[in-house]
Amino acid sequence: MAPEDWSFIKAPERRLAARLVAKHGLVPPVDVLSLLKTYADVEFVDLPTEADAYLLYEDEKRRRPLVLVSRNKSSNRQRFTLAHELGHLVIPWHIGELNYTQNGSKSTMEVEADSFASELLLPSLWIRNVVECQATLEDRIRVALTANCSMIATAIAISSAGSPGSVLAISSEGVVKWSSITSGSITASPPLGSRISNWTATNPSWTIGNIERGTETFWWFRWPQHTAHTVTRTAKQIFDTIATGKTAKSTAEAWTYFCAVTGGLSGKQSSSLGSVDQLYSQFKLRFQQASRVPSWLTSHPRFDGLLSARSKELWSKKK
Ligand SMILES: [Zn+2]
Repeated sequence: MAPEDWSFIKAPERRLAARLVAKHGLVPPVDVLSLLKTYADVEFVDLPTEADAYLLYEDEKRRRPLVLVSRNKSSNRQRFTLAHELGHLVIPWHIGELNYTQNGSKSTMEVEADSFASELLLPSLWIRNVVECQATLEDRIRVALTANCSMIATAIAISSAGSPGSVLAISSEGVVKWSSITSGSITASPPLGSRISNWTATNPSWTIGNIERGTETFWWFRWPQHTAHTVTRTAKQIFDTIATGKTAKSTAEAWTYFCAVTGGLSGKQSSSLGSVDQLYSQFKLRFQQASRVPSWLTSHPRFDGLLSARSKELWSKKK
């Protein structure tokens, strides 16, 4: 895989993980134990503390590093721990350093090793692909869960990769332990510690779905289908209204960027889209990643209407 494919991954420790994924052709669920064993000896033991693992570097007596992993944790948690310890072994500025969590607050290296671990187990490119290839949020979540990561890690990856206009939540025995809106959403998400049933009861018009795993439930909510596709004005007319008062130069530039972002759906992407709503969602997603489009355009209250009009126009050409 060409390096430019993951140039959008900014954090250096994430890049290292992405490079490893590419080098070994790893596909979720990643066999992280085998991978770690190429760098260190691994033993599953009863640890005397609550710790997930200890990493012992090589010394006069030990030819290879040794990772002692608590055998009393869930298998998804162990997988994350293995990936985390691997991070300490391959991130160059971690090697030989002692890392620990003190008073519940994590050191920078601990945060970096966690972020390395998420990228390794839930690679950004893979998640992007899942989001692009699976039309419904339910399918995206189902496929993403096959990476065998915790529900929260999976939910974070899904919400940062798009699926605009949704609310995601994880509950454990009915109580919300994580929640977030996806980008492009303009609502609140269920408060941590509240009963999920309160939320579902107060939002009856939403489409609600869930997947249960053990004591945890992964919830998603979508509000009723976007209705602004009834716009009657053309995209250019709406754009001109939004651009009122801007200079000719910035208006022209913004229109060019807008058309570029909504222009190049490849034949393959286009044929995988089943409706104008999906096209609209794709465009929403693109605008979250399009840094050159001015915010006076994307944050304007009529921007959604503009996108609707543009989606409708392109959709009618496609048919
Ligand atoms: Zn650590």
